Amino acid sequence: MKIGMLPLIVGNWKMNPQTQTLSTSLSVQLKKIFNKKLEADVVIAPPHIFLESVVRGLNHTGKIALGAQNVHYQKIGSFTGEISMGMLQSYGVSYVILGHSERRRDGESNDAVNLKLITTIKAGATAILCVGETERDQNAHYLSLIEKQIRSGLATVPKARLSQVVVAYEPVWAIGTGDTATPSDVHEMKLFIEKILSDLYGRNMAQKVRIIYGGSVNPKNARELFIEGNVDGFLVGGASLHADDFLQIVKATIA
Ligand code: PEP
Repeated sequence: MKIGMLPLIVGNWKMNPQTQTLSTSLSVQLKKIFNKKLEADVVIAPPHIFLESVVRGLNHTGKIALGAQNVHYQKIGSFTGEISMGMLQSYGVSYVILGHSERRRDGESNDAVNLKLITTIKAGATAILCVGETERDQNAHYLSLIEKQIRSGLATVPKARLSQVVVAYEPVWAIGTGDTATPSDVHEMKLFIEKILSDLYGRNMAQKVRIIYGGSVNPKNARELFIEGNVDGFLVGGASLHADDFLQIVKATIA
């Protein structure tokens, strides 16, 4: 964790829960248990259709920010089924998860991720750029894949906007599997990502980017991954659907 920076913990609800009632009740629970100001930035990213119910459930708590799981790169127009940055911001969304492996798996390209990232930061929000390998090969070719995801995702992003970018290292094999990367693997990848950012923007600027880890984080492994992985926070899927577990993960990044 970098000095002078708050950890960032993002809950990605993915395509859950299944009803608006459940979404409201999870948000109400979160509001209830996140009752103290914590030294961390906490974000939840519900499905777009539940943004309104989450806003209602959180009831201006101010302790949890809102994220989205995707955005269209155009501001307005004939894009059936899509959602614009303006629409998201009208609900108070200030973070957007981009390039999640579950979207890349369905064909989202590095170029599409880049366009969305530019749209997000131009609108003044923070982009969470997800990168990660599907599998690890002995010759470490996966490193060049991750480098490409970062360089393409950040293409044309100026230095001045870098503080609006977070990089989430999420090895695909660790997502939703219960099989986390080891803390030392996480640390190694963090250094690798920092090196790419330094090459692109210089060491000082690279230090301003939060690098978080995602992949089967839970209350039991969070502290070790945070300290030994030396990351700046977490992107949490499954465990973010349980308010208590999510709170425990946030607490694991504090003190
Ligand atoms: C994710 O969806 O980004 C994720 C990390 O999921 P999980 O925590 O369930 O592995």
